Amino acid sequence: MWDAIFNFYNVLDLDELLEQEAEQLHDYVQDAFCSECGAYYGELESDDRDIRCEYCGEHAVCSLSELLNF
Ligand SMILES: [Zn+2]
Repeated sequence: MWDAIFNFYNVLDLDELLEQEAEQLHDYVQDAFCSECGAYYGELESDDRDIRCEYCGEHAVCSLSELLNF
């Protein structure tokens, strides 16, 4: 699922993503993705996690900082 997220931000790897999105990780509202299928889910509060994904049906949608375990 990381490939889909890297594509979304147009970065090559996790290091580049962390560098590019460092400021967002401190925001209250963040981009959210499904940790199963990588679908972009819009914006959620930073502590939101395990929300149902409408694409794959898993309760796996998390904010960016939850995905990165910040
Ligand atoms: Zn999904």
